[in-house]
This record gives sequence, C-alpha cells and structure tokens, in this order.
Amino acid sequence: MSQLVTLLNRYAHEYYTSDNPSVSDSEYDALYRELVELEKDYPQEILPDSPTHRVGGKVLEGFEKYQHQYPLYSLQDAFSRQELDDFDNRVRKEFPKVSYLCELKIDGLSISLTYENGVLVVGATRGDGSVGENITENLKRVKDIPLTLPEALNITVRGECYMPRSSFDAVNQYRQENGEPEFANPRNAAAGTLRQLDTSVVAKRNLATFLYQEASPTNEPSQEAVLEKLGKLGFTVNANRILAQSMEQVWAFIEKIEQEREHLPYDIDGVVIKVNDLEVQEELGFTVKAPKWAIAYKFPAEEKEAQLLSVDWTVGRTGVVTPTANLTPVQLAGTTVSRATLHNVDYIAEKDIRLHDTVIVYKAGDIIPAVLCVVENKRQNQEKLEIPSKCPSCGSELIHFEDEVALRCINPLCPAQIKEGLIHFASRDAMNITGLGEKIVEKLFVEELVKDVAGIYRLTVEDLLELEGFKEKSANKLYTAIQASKSNSAERLLFGLGIRHVGSKASRILLEKFHDIENLAKAKQEEIAALDSLGMVIAESLETYFAQEGSQILLAELRKAGVNLAYLGEKVAADAALSGMTVVLTGKLEKLTRTQAKEKLQSLGANVAGSISKKTDLVVAGSDAGSKLTKAQELGIEIRDEAWLESL
Ligand code: AMP
Ligand code: ZN
Repeated sequence: MSQLVTLLNRYAHEYYTSDNPSVSDSEYDALYRELVELEKDYPQEILPDSPTHRVGGKVLEGFEKYQHQYPLYSLQDAFSRQELDDFDNRVRKEFPKVSYLCELKIDGLSISLTYENGVLVVGATRGDGSVGENITENLKRVKDIPLTLPEALNITVRGECYMPRSSFDAVNQYRQENGEPEFANPRNAAAGTLRQLDTSVVAKRNLATFLYQEASPTNEPSQEAVLEKLGKLGFTVNANRILAQSMEQVWAFIEKIEQEREHLPYDIDGVVIKVNDLEVQEELGFTVKAPKWAIAYKFPAEEKEAQLLSVDWTVGRTGVVTPTANLTPVQLAGTTVSRATLHNVDYIAEKDIRLHDTVIVYKAGDIIPAVLCVVENKRQNQEKLEIPSKCPSCGSELIHFEDEVALRCINPLCPAQIKEGLIHFASRDAMNITGLGEKIVEKLFVEELVKDVAGIYRLTVEDLLELEGFKEKSANKLYTAIQASKSNSAERLLFGLGIRHVGSKASRILLEKFHDIENLAKAKQEEIAALDSLGMVIAESLETYFAQEGSQILLAELRKAGVNLAYLGEKVAADAALSGMTVVLTGKLEKLTRTQAKEKLQSLGANVAGSISKKTDLVVAGSDAGSKLTKAQELGIEIRDEAWLESL
C-alpha cells in the first residue's frame, strides 16, 4: 500500500503540478484501483497521504473556526508607476542595494496549509487574517496540494487557491444548461467551491494553487530561495517571476505581464513586488496591516476597442427590451468577447452610440461585458442606430414609459415573455425543477409542447422523448423532477408565476399570512399592504394580476394538474419556543434525519448553526456525539436530547 501511495502521488504530481506525466492514464487507473481494493480489505491501514482521500464525498456539517498561528497579512496597493517609485524610495533610503522579487498576483483566495511531521493536518481560509475557517477536507480535494511532504517537516505555508479559466468555463456551461445561476468570475467560483459542504463537488471542480510563502520561521535567505524550497517540497510555485535590481526592471516586467495577461490560463489582478532578502524584510517590518517590504501593483480594469457590427434586441420576462451589441471579436480578461450589453435605449442616446462605431468594451465583475463609450475620433459613419418601435418577438407597439430607461412590450401573450417566464418558473428559487434549464425550455417552447406554465405539468415521458437529445433515462428523470415539484410549498409557485414586484421573500410572507394562493387571490389590497415589509406597490400588483381572467384560468389548471397551492412551511410566531436562539445539532438522532431536525428547529424559530461558538445557546445531541458535545460542555452550553425536541 505504501509503495502504491508513493507511486500514485508521484504520478499525480507529474500530472497536475509539473504537467509532465510519465505513465498513461490507464496505467494510473490500474494502480489506483489496486490501492482501492487493498484499502477495502485493510481499512485500518489507509495511509494519511493516500490519493483516495482526494475523491469521493463526505458531507460536512459546517466549518470550524481556525485560529491562525501566524497571521495572514494584506498588501499595500499601488495603481501607478509613481506610487511604485515612492515605495522604492522609502525602501532604498535604508537599503540602497535592495533587489525585488516580482510575482504574479493571483486572483483567487488565500489559503494556509499546516503540515506536522510532513503530513497535511490543517488547511484554512484567511478569514480576517487571524481567525479563518478550517477547510481541510475541501483542500485535500485540490489535486496539486501535497498531502504529505518528502521530509517530516513541521511547516505552515501560504498561497492562493484559484479556479483555472478552463474549469470556470466548464462549470458555468454546466450551470447554464441546468438552469443554475452562473458564477460571475473564477474568483467567485473558487470561493463558492471552497465553501461547499459536499467535498465531492470540490473534487469535481478542478481547483489549483500557487504557493508563495513560508509562514512558519524559515532558514532560507530570500524569497527566491523560499519559492525554490516550496517547489522542491512538491508545491506548485508560479514560474512567471523575476528578480529585479531596479524599478525599471520591475516596470518592464509589469508591462510584459499586462500584455500577456489575457493568454494566461488563470486570472491575475496585478503584480506583487517583494523585497527579496528576508533579513531586510525583517528590518523593514510591518505597518498595522501590511508588510512595508512588499507592494501590489494592481492592473486597471481591462478595456478594449471593438467595432459595433449590429444590435440584437431581446425581450425579457417582464417585457423589457434590452439591446446587446454584436462586436468584432476581442480578447478581454482571458475570454473572447463578441457581444456586450448596451444596457437600454436611454444609455444609447446618452452615449450617442451609432452603428459601425468603434466602442470601448470592458468587463467589470460581471459575466456579460458592457459597452463603455464611443471612440468619437474614429467615427466614420453617421448612421444612427435603429431603435425598434415594435416588439421583436410579437410585433406589438413598444412603450417607453416616462419614468423608465427601457423600452417595454406590454402584450401578455408575447411569446418571448412567455418563454422567459417558463425559464423563471423552473429556476432554482422558484419551482426548482432540476434539468429544466434554459436550453430545454427553449426546445419545448419551439416544438410547442409547452405554451404556459401549466403546460409543463401536462408533459408526458413520450413528449420529452420527442425532443432532440433525450433518451429513456433522461426523459424519465426530467419527468420525475417535474412531478416532484407539484408538492412544493406554494411560495415557490407564487414566486414562479413572476408577478411584478413579488419576489421570493415577499411570496413567503404573503403565504405565511394567507395560507394558500386562492385565498391570497381573494385578499383585499389593504390587508396585503398592512403586512410587515410589504406595501401598496405589491398589493396593487397582486390585485392587477389576479383580476385578469387568464390568471384565474391558469390557477385552475395548475390545481387540476395536482400542483399544490398551499403553504407547507410552518408559521414562525414571534413567541415560538426557540425564537431567536442559536442551536447546534450533533450526533445521530433516532427518529429524525438531520435535515428534518433542522427544519423542526427552524420552524420553532431557532437559527441552526454548524459549529459551536460563544453565540450558541443550545445543543441538541444524539448518540455518538463527538467533539462538538465536548466543546459545548466546556463552554457550559445547555444540552438537550431528541425526546425534548419531540416534546416541543
Ligand atoms: P489584497 O487582498 O488586495 O490586500 O492583496 C493581498 C492578497 O493578495 C493576499 O492575501 C493574497 O491572497 C493575494 N496574493 C495573490 N498572489 C500573491 C502573491 N504572489 N504574493 C502575495 N500575495 C498574493
Ligand atoms: Zn412582445
């Protein structure tokens, strides 16, 4: 087993870190399977650095806080050459011969890894720098983090965990196809992944790391030497770095990186400049929050020029008509951009954007790039953009309300609006029908298999089999998901109907009060407006909606199809038994599953937390409760059992 582990870890390192595999995938798989078999037979012998720890799922209850032994620092920022020169002058006043190591500033999340006797024992997030979260189980699933080191060292190292652009694109593609919200950028995606409680998700998402600091005391003389040491220990270290003797060299590196930036396989947001000599670092010391021996040069937001070829006008769920520019393709922040939003008609008028103009596009935190402005001296054509007067989907007259920046189609039978409404209906916060994402809805709509939301419930497996790409298994799966959504608590349905101003939170408040949708349809405006945190706008919008004959017919059809119209969540009264208390569950319960117990507690007004802290008011403990129980006892927190919960 130990030979297999050593071999497999070497191969994995060659594959993930050095990008230089020496065996084929099938050879690796065969050895891996042999190890799995052995571990099945000798579970007590499973080695701490076995690659099998990296896959498969464990569902965590939450993350414990982790007190960093060595605090993580932040960095001073610079946005110009001048600020860098000022930094250099301050350093050179004391150390005229200083040299700097320039590294890429990786746009991910900082992580801290602690090894004892060469074995990874804790992986943690930065948190506020002194207290982070223990995410060891998740970091073990990041394949280029060594589980053991070649030497039995006690060492804490720091670096950045990020999502490569290729993984990001794959994850978003998957989410789009499944009607899940896409991540805005790789950084958010990495953060979301590391906070997953299901470790198998982390294993699937292909995160990676660059390590750059030895946080525990080191004998190395320089930052350069530290990086070399980390590389030898099996960590991934970014090779894109230089040792600069002057600010000219630093600046040349920055300019070169800015050119190459978009071709890197990961996102960076700047260059970090560090005094190379660790003794000099020590002498320079720290300000309150950042080292005086380092500075981060941040790149300006990326902008590019492109030519505006044409404009598409699309109709959203609420009838708003949005312009999107088609552009000559440009590289922006690592992706090819050929479409960008023009926001709305008023924006186009205000910026005087015309057809064939050269425009500046940029990408802020969003997925969709935007047009910033026109490069006026490059204008060759005076042709104004044609603003549509008719809906591109249904042809009815568009309205430009005085108090709105947008154009709107107000035809309730507009096909584009209906299609967008269907997508919204199936989405996660609404009916949450897994597998009924944008693409499938589009097909169902085009094939005229579904014309309104009630139509979703008339679909048969045979209907689905008619769609391109569907097989017996996938059709059955989607059919089952649709059927399951019938028994959702009705606030999902209410939100899914897409009534103006009625969001998911308002939907819940409304149904807590009126119990079911038919009741709500009969409610008086004043009754609704009187509810906490709702108002006249919502009340009027509901009245308008329910007054339409079409809405009544739709509700009747949904009821006939067996869709639940009643609120199933329990009412939380202000005087509920556990109102405002923070409760933690631990151990195995006899009658209730974890989720059921959690829901019960929440219905009693409790806030259910994953880990014990000073804020915990109460612990409900089942059998085999472990460290949480001990900790609760140490802190003197009240402890109760399942029978007590039942009695409530
Ligand atoms: P800021 O968050 O802007 O204060 O910048 C500090 C952060 O930059 C650190 O917490 C690290 O997570 C991150 N960082 C990324 N790459 C590096 C690097 N090569 N050296 C130091 N910090 C880095
Ligand atoms: Zn229309």
